[in-house]
Amino acid sequence: MKGIRIIQTLAKNTFHNYSCPLIFYHRHLYMPFRKLIKIDNVSDVTRSMYNCIEKMYPICRSITGDGIRKSLVILKNIIPLNIIETKTGTQVYDWKVPDEWNINDAYICNSKGEKIIDFQEMNLHVVNYSDPIHKRITLRKLKQHCYSIPEHPDWIPYRTTYYNRSWGFCLSDNLLNSLPEDEYEVFIDSTLKPGFLTYGEYLIKGESKDEVLIYSHICHPSLCNDNLSGLSVASHLAKQLQQQNLRYSYRFVFGPGTIGSITWLSQNEDIIANIKHGLVIVLVGDANYLTYKKSRNGNSEIDRAVLTALKDHKNTYNILDFTPYGYDERQFCSPGINLPVGRLTRSVEGGYPEYHTSADNLDFIKKESLQESLLVCIDIVNIIENNHYLLNTNPKCEPQLGKRGLYKKTGGSNNVNLNELALLWVLNLSDGSHDLIKIAKKSGLSFHEIYTAAKELYRVGLLTVMNDQEKRSI
Ligand code: ZN
Repeated sequence: MKGIRIIQTLAKNTFHNYSCPLIFYHRHLYMPFRKLIKIDNVSDVTRSMYNCIEKMYPICRSITGDGIRKSLVILKNIIPLNIIETKTGTQVYDWKVPDEWNINDAYICNSKGEKIIDFQEMNLHVVNYSDPIHKRITLRKLKQHCYSIPEHPDWIPYRTTYYNRSWGFCLSDNLLNSLPEDEYEVFIDSTLKPGFLTYGEYLIKGESKDEVLIYSHICHPSLCNDNLSGLSVASHLAKQLQQQNLRYSYRFVFGPGTIGSITWLSQNEDIIANIKHGLVIVLVGDANYLTYKKSRNGNSEIDRAVLTALKDHKNTYNILDFTPYGYDERQFCSPGINLPVGRLTRSVEGGYPEYHTSADNLDFIKKESLQESLLVCIDIVNIIENNHYLLNTNPKCEPQLGKRGLYKKTGGSNNVNLNELALLWVLNLSDGSHDLIKIAKKSGLSFHEIYTAAKELYRVGLLTVMNDQEKRSI
């Protein structure tokens, strides 16, 4: 009797794994493992990322207006973008889309008619969203509208007055302190009137309607790390993904900070349920190491994927828990939205002296940092695309790997690089409660090693991928 049972079990397993034409057909119809995305011409791509920042740097952006439109035209040279405009006054949750702000010119002249501050030379000189003004004022009055940074007397600060109608100038502390008593002509040729809020969006369709959302803000004027680095890395990530055979759909949104993500969310509630993972990509060009801020949940798949990518990258990195302070992750992780969206930066907001000053310029951006940021983003995509819960189809004792060509010592195997330890970890932990990220973590092996082993084990029929129904039943 015992012998018969063994034969029956073998027969059943054999039938299930190798002989059933339906299973065989299904396995070959659905390929859960994607070819890992690699950038072949990484130095060309890095140069392109830096050039993109150089082109956008002189533009005076704000939360609305032509600065965003001009910047989106530059990004449109990299990837196709839909431009979406939302009317001033549109209710977006608790907010209203503000009046559109544009600026042509601004300066301060002394009584001799000499320009001591010129917007054309540096757009940070004007407080963003300043009302138009043209009048002559005393030094004392002028100083009430001037901003500088005494700790860094050569730098010009970046200031805004979005929701409080006012006007002002930003200048170096050295210049401010050198101004003599005089009558000054202040001139700001700006317009603040009903118009639109603008953002750009690009959807790369994958096999599934499930989406990965990438958001970068596009509302700061001549600041490189804070806004331009994120836009450049995210758009080049999109360019790398557009030719790939993807499992998920990827939605890239380039909009103003806070009001942009609030507007996007309020207009896209029907899409929110499809978003399975998300990343805010900002401040990714400075020399500091990468920092990941977890989603509100703190243990979402995107959190685990980014942690794995950073660990495998073998460079210093920093992990932060979620806080309701920062960039657009605040909106995506608000309690009524609660999306699994984390944030990738290098330095964090306010975490470097050059933050929100004229010193956040082209010299502050490092090509090697842009490159590393993009490569880690590609690794994150590779992990998300290939992460599955798997089931060992031969869970009673170890299957004989040699006869399936999976042991190096059995001559004739093509899999000379296959990590046997990885095979054993994947087989052992493919019990329905571990996805590949968890297996990589428990084994201490890289995701790449675990992925390679899982792909081979799946190929020879020793693994199946759990579907959603099976996952729910566990
Ligand atoms: Zn900022």
